[in-house]
Amino acid sequence: MTPTDDKKIADDKLLAEEKEKVRAFARAYAAREGFDINPDEKIVDMVIGGLARNKIKHGARYCPCRIISGDREQDKFKICPCKWHKDEIEKDGHCHCVLFFKRNQD
Ligand code: SF4
Repeated sequence: MTPTDDKKIADDKLLAEEKEKVRAFARAYAAREGFDINPDEKIVDMVIGGLARNKIKHGARYCPCRIISGDREQDKFKICPCKWHKDEIEKDGHCHCVLFFKRNQD
């Protein structure tokens, strides 16, 4: 094994751990707020992966579907759950990243 392999394994492990934390947050948050999580596991995994990568790279769960400006004051509204998600869920039935959905009443 080369040092590059070791680093890749460490990076993969860190990402997997962070994804688990983000997944736990999303489940708990959805349960608390009365939202559903997107039933499409592939999409959920992509969004969760994006949030986890931003946490590792930028230090916070920045929304992977919005542009981060680098201005902390401006970007703080883009930390998941972002400033706009409740309005989006109310209006469109889901948040911009299609992670959280309005609860299915059926
Ligand atoms: S759009 Fe959804 S996933 Fe993205 S930050 Fe807002 S609440 Fe989180």
